[in-house]
Amino acid sequence: MANDPLPRLLPDERTVQLSSEQAGLLLKLQRDVLAEVVQGEAQSALELLCVTAEHLLPNSVASIMLFDDSRSSLNVRAAPSISPEAIAALNGLKPGPAAGSCGTAVFRDEPQFVCDTEIDPRWSSPDFRSVAEKFHICACWSLPVRIAGEVVGSLALSSFEKRQPSEFHRLLLETGAYLVGIILEREREQQRLWRMAHFDSLTELPNRRGFNQQLEERIHAAAESGNRLALLFLDLDHFKDINDTLGHHAGDMVLRQIACALKTVLRPADIMARLGGDEFVILLPEVEDILDVHHVADKIMLAVKRPIFLEGRSYRLSASIGISLYPDDGGDLQTLHKNADLAMYEAKAKGRDRYIYYRPDLATLIESRTALVGDIRQALQEQSFFLEYQPQISATSGRLAGAEALIRWRHPRKGLIPPLDFIPLAEETGLITELGDWVLVTACRQSLDWWRQGAPEFVLSVNLSVKQLLDGYPERILSTLAQLHFPLRLLELEITESLVMESGGEALEQLEKLRRAGVSICMDDFGTGHSSLAQLKRMPISRLKIDRSFVRDIPEDPSDMVIARTIIAMGHSLGLEIVAEGVENEVQRSFLMTEGCDFLQGYLISRPLQPGSFKQFLMGGDFDPGQQRDG
Ligand code: C2E
Ligand code: MG
Ligand code: MG
Repeated sequence: MANDPLPRLLPDERTVQLSSEQAGLLLKLQRDVLAEVVQGEAQSALELLCVTAEHLLPNSVASIMLFDDSRSSLNVRAAPSISPEAIAALNGLKPGPAAGSCGTAVFRDEPQFVCDTEIDPRWSSPDFRSVAEKFHICACWSLPVRIAGEVVGSLALSSFEKRQPSEFHRLLLETGAYLVGIILEREREQQRLWRMAHFDSLTELPNRRGFNQQLEERIHAAAESGNRLALLFLDLDHFKDINDTLGHHAGDMVLRQIACALKTVLRPADIMARLGGDEFVILLPEVEDILDVHHVADKIMLAVKRPIFLEGRSYRLSASIGISLYPDDGGDLQTLHKNADLAMYEAKAKGRDRYIYYRPDLATLIESRTALVGDIRQALQEQSFFLEYQPQISATSGRLAGAEALIRWRHPRKGLIPPLDFIPLAEETGLITELGDWVLVTACRQSLDWWRQGAPEFVLSVNLSVKQLLDGYPERILSTLAQLHFPLRLLELEITESLVMESGGEALEQLEKLRRAGVSICMDDFGTGHSSLAQLKRMPISRLKIDRSFVRDIPEDPSDMVIARTIIAMGHSLGLEIVAEGVENEVQRSFLMTEGCDFLQGYLISRPLQPGSFKQFLMGGDFDPGQQRDG
């Protein structure tokens, strides 16, 4: 209603006698202040309100005080006409029953109209007396300011003369306090929206947007100061497993705990953010020495590994980190992000649980690796893998005892690719399951074929990657072997020592199931994995294969000879048979035989053979191992 004499924003609808001029002044105040809120900042709206109120009460100054974060004292938020010295004297005001006009208004949550500070008990304490005298405050009227009903501060008009408020001035203050509440509420809402847009609600860390803003600023500053920055991209390893097995709630708890753990190893100037999912990013803003970056990265890796407790169990995680440096690896945000990401990807590909610095060749490396993964998939479809068989003989009788199946890949463009160049990649991508199944089935079929044709029996050794030991593996392959009618006593699976030790309990359980079914397990590359005697005793294994590196330098390296001798003695004491691989000459053979090694494998006996040649070898035909070459 245009000619309503009361300002519409008034909290109550008391009928007050105002001249139409006074009502117009109050309406104008509302209109101007609200227009300022919409257009500008909260601060300028608050100051405009103060200045306008002072205008409507000559010989006075207006002030707005607000609670600090702890809600224990009040500080000046806006007081455009009050000197800095006076503001300093007002700041830190503690609300109380006789705490001047503002402190009392907030304390009692009701207006306080002090008309004469000299005699009013609310201004009688020495502190208030001295402020009143020093700044000539003779009267002070103050109203509480509220947001959603809660007192957050005060609006006051302090006069340099003793005076009582008129009805108009009471209304002026009421309107003013109400407007301050609106301005502050709006500001709070904007801050909340800003926080939502720039922070991650789960960890309370900045989010991607918030981080990028800070990174831009730091890059800018570093460009001027010549400083170096380091950007660390961190991705938790196998976090998906936690989410999948324990649920998203547990996943959230893990992310929160990791964020806390990371905070403890960072300095206050470092900036950390969560980019989403299990990805964190850390900015080290002043890198003087690259060693500092190593140091922080090491500390981060350790922090991530701290045990995490969930529902009474403890879990240990690891992380893969990629690092890019400003200005070395990029001059802008996008490039630094991209390169840290590439390095992180490489850390994952290298087997996770590590940090890797960006290098210019990473992009092509990753590209060619991705292409190779595609090629492996295709090769599986087109059957361009094949097997070679390397005989193992009994050290005492010299007779054939077994054969190890070794995978080969003839790539259409790149030619023969060694297994160590694609097996890790197949493991990383999960393709090893399909590849491993193919090897096992192919080797079993070929062997069965030879036996049907009258070849002597031998133990078929097939390499098994721990990555194949997923849930249900033993059941699956045992059923396949049953369908093939393959005698399980003639099958041995070779598993690399270091990998079994790393993978722990579950892999062992799967191996145990296989052993119970009658399949032998051989620990391959033995000596490289630091297993203890106690661990070995618990392993479901029947053979140890001495790693080639300990055979290679016999007899030149006496310590290798000691190691080989020790492995043989220790293995025998545990009731295990010993195979030596990589036997290339007579000296090695006779040393190993003297030490009691049970089986020998290596170029001296035969290189890995293609199926046709191996069949000849089996049949004891006119085979000359020296003439054979693999591939
Ligand atoms: P490994 O299981 O330790 O296999 C023995 C490796 O030593 C083979 O290399 C073999 O060719 C080589 N070797 C045998 N005798 C000698 C010798 O007297 N001197 C020298 N210098 N080398 C000898 P290869 O075939 O390149 O295989 C390398 C590794 O690749 C294997 O090590 C195994 O870990 C992995 N691998 C091969 N085939 C498969 C497979 O079908 N599945 C899985 N998961 N891994 C496989
Ligand atoms: Mg092997
Ligand atoms: Mg080996």
